[in-house]
Amino acid sequence: MLRRLLLQAPTSCRRLSNAYHYSAPSHSPRFFSSSSSSQSPNSSFIEHVEDNANHSTSPPSATVSVDRSGLYNPPEHSHEPSSDSELVKHLKGIIKFRGGPISIAEYMEEVLTNPKAGFYINRDVFGAEGDFITSPEVSQMFGEMVGVWAMCLWEQMGQPNKVNLVELGPGRGTLMVDLLRGASKFKNFTESLQIHMVECSPTLQKLQHSNLKCKDEDNTDDKVNKRSVSTLTGTPVTWHAALEQVPSGLPTIIIAHEFYDALPVHQFQKASRGWCEKMVDVAEDSSFRFVLSPQPTPATLFLMKRCKWAATEEIAKLDHIEVCPKAMELTQTIADRISSDGGGALIIDYGLNGVVSDSLQAIRKHKFVDILDNPGSADLSAYVDFASIRHSAEEASGDVSVHGPMTQSQFLGSLGINFRVDALLQNCTDDQAESLRTGYWRLVGEGEAPFWEGPDEEAPIGMGTRYLAMAIVNKRQGVPVPFQ
Ligand code: SAH
Repeated sequence: MLRRLLLQAPTSCRRLSNAYHYSAPSHSPRFFSSSSSSQSPNSSFIEHVEDNANHSTSPPSATVSVDRSGLYNPPEHSHEPSSDSELVKHLKGIIKFRGGPISIAEYMEEVLTNPKAGFYINRDVFGAEGDFITSPEVSQMFGEMVGVWAMCLWEQMGQPNKVNLVELGPGRGTLMVDLLRGASKFKNFTESLQIHMVECSPTLQKLQHSNLKCKDEDNTDDKVNKRSVSTLTGTPVTWHAALEQVPSGLPTIIIAHEFYDALPVHQFQKASRGWCEKMVDVAEDSSFRFVLSPQPTPATLFLMKRCKWAATEEIAKLDHIEVCPKAMELTQTIADRISSDGGGALIIDYGLNGVVSDSLQAIRKHKFVDILDNPGSADLSAYVDFASIRHSAEEASGDVSVHGPMTQSQFLGSLGINFRVDALLQNCTDDQAESLRTGYWRLVGEGEAPFWEGPDEEAPIGMGTRYLAMAIVNKRQGVPVPFQ
């Protein structure tokens, strides 16, 4: 099946994107390595708000954390005028109104998705001109291989003649465009699709609409669930703010690429009185600062839950732990949907197959910046805790099975990206060939990509082992490719 899909796929090159020639600096958090112990680069900002009570919230105890020792990059401060932005005023307003600090999760959610001024809401943040770059923007082969995965699952589902294909957080829509173009010869598959884009940003929704070459249907009175058709394959496309809004009742394939890393995380720090939540407050000079909660916070329940899923030794060595309740909830929703409607989900992101210690990062224009500096002007993202996703899915439903994580390199390699790059190289210009090779190594390589002839400090870093792939499928579907 795989070979057939790869051999029959169109062999045209998407375009010569300047992304090919762009290299993210090696300290980009989206290319971070992960391994042993770490020091929190932000711990110097923490002011301990001590109280005398002995609030011991110590959960059972962990080992996996993020090694950023070789990646130190002094935080850059923006040189914006000192007057507060709308978002800063809004955040300060919340803190003032509450009469105390807010969780990092609440801060992160506001910074990324505040409907007026969130980082993602009003602009295109991707690519060389933006703030960071993602795999679909690196090479057309990424979306094509995800398409191969989706088609294989569709076959395992018995080739249903109607399927919901849902993408969570589609960015520019590039993955979906490449998926559809790659699959366009497989009419039975493309004609079965109802595409649902789950996207909070009106600006990105418009960009997705345009990149998918969508035409709006005239005769729809339903402004909320406006339906369009992608002229790439004649496939209906609908936009939603959340997965819950995607109509149920059809077998469903869900794709989440670099979506989970944008979900808000709570951070905990071990103090003499036990685990305390790290919070965001306003200092006397009116700047934001981190403080520790004097007593247990509601999110402590999620910390306890996460720690129960971990080995005692895994927790014991950690001074910091991140938990993502929104990732747990989303996984439950995915598992419930797949359990009732059939199908499966593919999650690809950077992360760990275990407890994440302290990974939250801010990145602006491809550089590390201070998490608290000029919120809304930089991306915030955190490592994805794949073990927590597995436990959440298994807890939600006995009808689903979880597979992986495996590295992106294994995933794309097993799906046949080598055959794909060879096929594309038969039919392209010299420039395109160069871009295809660079893109290929960016996707599957570990460390620096070969074929790089630019300055050493800009050598592209492979995403092959830093990114992981996991599948959640209805057990009826058996084991999905390439997790057998
Ligand atoms: N998958 C794309 C983009 C990843 S960036 C790629 O790989 O290129 C994260 C995407 O998720 C953006 O499109 C952002 O607008 C969207 N997003 C972030 N938080 C969201 C939320 N809570 N609800 C819906 N969309 C969200």
